[in-house]
Amino acid sequence: MSIKPMIRNNICLNCHPAGCEAGVKKQIEFVKKTVKTKDNAPKLALIVGGSTGYGLASRIAAAFGYGAATVGVSFEKEPSEKHSGTPGFHNNATVDREAEKAGLVSITVNGDAFSDEIKAQTCQAIKQAAEKAGIPAKVDLFVYSLASPVRTDPKTGVQYKSVIKPIGAPYSGTTLNMMDGTFSTVSAEPAEGDEVANTVKVMGGEDWELWMDALDKEGLLCNQARTVAYTYIGPELSWAIYKNGTIGKAKEDLERASRDINKKYQGKFKGSWVSVNKALVTRSSAVIPIIPLYISCLFKVMKEMGLHEGCIEQIVRLYNDRLFESSVPVDSENRIRIDDWEMRDDVQKATVERMGKATPENIFEETDVAGFKQDFLEAHGFNVAGVDYE
Ligand code: NAD
Repeated sequence: MSIKPMIRNNICLNCHPAGCEAGVKKQIEFVKKTVKTKDNAPKLALIVGGSTGYGLASRIAAAFGYGAATVGVSFEKEPSEKHSGTPGFHNNATVDREAEKAGLVSITVNGDAFSDEIKAQTCQAIKQAAEKAGIPAKVDLFVYSLASPVRTDPKTGVQYKSVIKPIGAPYSGTTLNMMDGTFSTVSAEPAEGDEVANTVKVMGGEDWELWMDALDKEGLLCNQARTVAYTYIGPELSWAIYKNGTIGKAKEDLERASRDINKKYQGKFKGSWVSVNKALVTRSSAVIPIIPLYISCLFKVMKEMGLHEGCIEQIVRLYNDRLFESSVPVDSENRIRIDDWEMRDDVQKATVERMGKATPENIFEETDVAGFKQDFLEAHGFNVAGVDYE
């Protein structure tokens, strides 16, 4: 059966299983060639949100780069007669299958990471993975890479929804339909009532702390364990909707959680960090106003300068040059910066210039909207080189 992408408003409603498989295999091949061996490389890694985007890359690099046993947690739909399932489902299946072929231990837990049940199930899976691998049940790498629109508080049963809104004043920005290169103006009213607090509840650091507590309670934390969660800061032109908006408040809370985790587990583990990553095309980023136009211009500039990276290249750089260093390089706020190339003055200047010049008429020449579209399709298993779609 031939499956075609079904895309509405930069959201893709289906995926292609064979393309997802090929995409994962491509990442595996890449990490095998690029991840540098290290004495303190992780042996047992937990990746929460490990089925797509940055989390998937983090899991692949730990497993196939270092040979670590991995436990991946994500919330994905399996295929049915009528639906192809979600890309993450097929990515997970490929990771587990390829790991088995390579003699690596890999366990996937599918369910709501915010719930107590999935945390308990995951702790069991970690013990199982350790037993299978013949290593102590001590997690030495814990990556927290969730991106979710909703969270049910496990204690109260109340469901919270996150929103992407400015704070204090309305926001209006140009956004780009990556499929046909057309522009539209997107307006967002400022957050009201509990919307800031609710977004913090979903995308802030509370759940990361609960995961740490669950691991500690079960005695699963290695004294050399490193934990990292991901954030984005980006250029000033996006701050009204991102850094200074509801999502930025949640990310501030993620940094607060990192500091609190460091205090709480001092001496019991190696440390907690927030890593600032590059803007990339994942299932989450395509729906944030201004970001598709910004990314299309940024990619054009970074590709021309030979600086372009995707999720897997970013994570390999995080592992090779940052997270496992004896003294982890950080900025003044204790954050790891792998957005350093994106934020270089020359890159930003050239990107802003392109954004000013881009029109619907010249969009395919002035920007890399084609690259944006390609990455977006690939994230759903479409247009992957070497796959016979017929
Ligand atoms: P993504 O949408 O590709 O992945 C999200 C992951 O979370 C998936 O594995 C999904 O299954 C999982 N998930 C969502 N809800 C869940 C739930 N209730 N239970 C279990 N799993 C659940 O997202 P991404 O873009 O890779 O983002 C990951 C992190 O990186 C986020 O914190 C994001 O803010 C950050 N980040 C993203 C970018 C970017 O440009 N994409 C840039 C910098 C930082």
